[in-house]
Amino acid sequence: MGNLMNCPQCGKLFVKVIRDNCDVCYLEEERQYDTVYRFIRKSENRNSTLLDVSVGTKVPENKIIQFIHQGRIRVKGYPNFTYPCDGCQSPINDGRLCEECKTRIKSDLSIEDFIKRKQEEALPSYHTDDN
Ligand SMILES: [Zn+2]
Ligand SMILES: [Zn+2]
Repeated sequence: MGNLMNCPQCGKLFVKVIRDNCDVCYLEEERQYDTVYRFIRKSENRNSTLLDVSVGTKVPENKIIQFIHQGRIRVKGYPNFTYPCDGCQSPINDGRLCEECKTRIKSDLSIEDFIKRKQEEALPSYHTDDN
C-alpha cells in the first residue's frame, strides 16, 4: 500500500509506492541519467570536468553527483572529473569520501554505516516500514 505524499521535486501530490518522487520526476531523472551516461562514455569527453558534463548534458551538477553517489555513474578513469567529498568538500574522484575522511570516520563508525546513513538521508527509503 502506498501513502499519499508530495513529490519533493515538483510538489505534485502522488501515491508513494516504491519511489519518493512522482512518475514525471522519476522519468525525468532516468532521462538525465541516460544523457549523462552516454555523454561520459564518449572518448572525446574523457577529459571533461563536472562542469563540462553539466553544461554538455544540461543536467545539474548536484544531480550528476547524486548518480555517482548511487554508484550508477563511475568517473574514476576521468582525470579532470572531481566532485566534493561528502565529509570535507575537498575534490574526489571515486566513492563519496576522500582518504582523510575515510580514515577519520573509521575511528568512530564504520564507513558502511556512514554510507548507509547518508543514503537513507538522500534516497528513497525502501526499508522495513511497509513490510
Ligand atoms: Zn514530481
Ligand atoms: Zn574529505
